Amino acid sequence: MRDSKTPSGPIPIGHLRGPVISDSVYRTLRSRGLDARFVYTIDDYDPMDAASMRLEAGMAEHMGKPLWAIPSPDPAVAPDFAEYHAGRFIALFAGLGITPEFHRMRDLYRSGALDPQIDLVLRNADAIRQIHRRIANVEHPEGWLPISVICENCGRIGTTLATDYDGKTVAYECRKDYVEWAEGCGYEGRLSPFKGNSKLLWNEQWCAQWDHFAVTYEEGGKDLLTAGGSRDRSNAIYREVFKKEPPIGLAHEFFTLGGKKMSTSKGVGATAVELVTIYPPDLTRFLMLRTNPKRHVEFDPSGTTLPRLFDEYDRFGDAYLQDPESDMGKTWRLSQVSPAPEPPGFRVRFQIVADWLQIPSVKPEAEAEERKGALLSPTELGDLRRRVALARVWLERWAPDEAKFTVLPKKPNVELTEVQRRYLVAIRSLIGRVQDAEEMQDQLYECAKKVGLVNAAGKPSREAFSAIYLAFIGKPDGPKAGWLLTSLDPEFVRRRLDEMGEA
Ligand SMILES: [Zn+2]
Repeated sequence: MRDSKTPSGPIPIGHLRGPVISDSVYRTLRSRGLDARFVYTIDDYDPMDAASMRLEAGMAEHMGKPLWAIPSPDPAVAPDFAEYHAGRFIALFAGLGITPEFHRMRDLYRSGALDPQIDLVLRNADAIRQIHRRIANVEHPEGWLPISVICENCGRIGTTLATDYDGKTVAYECRKDYVEWAEGCGYEGRLSPFKGNSKLLWNEQWCAQWDHFAVTYEEGGKDLLTAGGSRDRSNAIYREVFKKEPPIGLAHEFFTLGGKKMSTSKGVGATAVELVTIYPPDLTRFLMLRTNPKRHVEFDPSGTTLPRLFDEYDRFGDAYLQDPESDMGKTWRLSQVSPAPEPPGFRVRFQIVADWLQIPSVKPEAEAEERKGALLSPTELGDLRRRVALARVWLERWAPDEAKFTVLPKKPNVELTEVQRRYLVAIRSLIGRVQDAEEMQDQLYECAKKVGLVNAAGKPSREAFSAIYLAFIGKPDGPKAGWLLTSLDPEFVRRRLDEMGEA
C-alpha cells in the first residue's frame, strides 16, 4: 500500500481522508494475518511551484528549486523547507494513529534506489510521450525526456528540459521561460541523471514508486482518478513500459470543510490543522470513516454539528459493545488511535457536558461519577476531560444561541401566565426531595398534567417547561429541565419558584 504528499505547506483536512482510510485498510489486512506494508513517500524532490510563495519575502529566488534545497521557515525546528513541513504532517499523522513507513524521495534518488526505473523510463521516453498524447491529449516536444535535471549552475529543478539520453548522460537546458512560476538561468550542459541528479516527472515517478515498493493497493482521491487524469496515465505507463499491473485501490470522494457560515461569519470557521488540534483524534478518524468513501462530505463545524457527531460516535461505540464485528462496531474500532483499543466505558453525552459547563456549581467529574454510581476509570476520566475541553471551545465558537444559557442570579423580569405560575408552585415540593434527574423529569411531566398544561394529545405542553426556563435562565428554551433543577442548589431553586409563582 502506498500514499504520498509533497511537503510544501499545511495539510487541508480533506487530505486526511485518504490516509485515514488507507490506515484502516492496512490495520484490517494486518489483523487478518496478511503481511502488509503501508509505505508513505515524502515527495521532497518536487520543485517549489506555489504561486503564494513567490510573494513571500526572500522566496522569489527559490522558485523552481527542489523543496529540500529551500531554507527552513524555522531552522530551530528543521534544517530545510521540506523537512519543516514533513515533520509537521508526520506528527499530525502520528497523533491520529497513522504510522506508515515514511520514505523521503531525496533518499531514494540519492542512493540510486530508483536508478533502474529512471533508466527504464528514459529508454522508453518515446513510448511514454505517445501515452501522454493518447490518454491525456498532452503534447510533449520531440526528444523530450520525462525527467527534471537539477541545474548545475542555479540549482533549479523545475526549469530544465532534458533530451538525448545516451545510456549514461542526458543533455539539458535550464530555460528562462520553461515554466511560468520560475525563471531558469539559461545554462546548458550534460550530466548523468542518476544518483540524485534528476527526478522523474510526476506520472513516471509514481510508476517508479509502485515498482520499487511492489505496491498492490493505492487509495486515491477522485481528482486524480478521472478519465484521462493522472492515474490513468500512470496506469498505462506502468502496463506498457514497466509491463506490470497497476495497484488496485478505492477511489474516495472529496471531504471539504465548508458550510454557508464558514465563509460569511468570522470566528466560525477553522482551518484543517486547527480543527484536528481541537477535535480529539478518534473523532477526526470517525469523521473520515463514518461516511461511505464514495460520498462527498461537506463538513461544517458550526451550530449543532459537533454534539450530533458525538452522539453518533457514541452510538457506534454502543454498537461495538454489542457486536464488535458489526459495521458500526468496526467503524468505531477503526476510529480509535490504538489498533487494539479498550472497549468504550461510561460516557456522558457531549451536549450534557456542555450544559454542565454553564452552571458554575456543577463539577463535571463529580457529576459524572454520581451518574455512573461509581468512580470513573482512568480511560473514562480521560474521555470526559476531552469532552469538557472540546465543549468549552464549542460553546465559545460554534454553539447556537439556544444551546447557551446562564442561570440568572436574580429573578428575571418575564411574563408568565396564570397556569404557568401555578405550575411553578406545584413543582416546588419536588425540589430537594427528588435527587435523580430522570426521576425529576418524569415528575415534572406528571405535575404538568395535574395543573392542566397538556396539549391536544394529552402530553405536557411546551408551556410547562418554558415556565421553568423563563424563571431560571430568562429564555423559553434551555437544557433538560429535570437535570437543571436537580443540579442547582435546592434552597435557591425553592426561593426562585416562590418569587415567580407569586401573582
Ligand atoms: Zn539553471
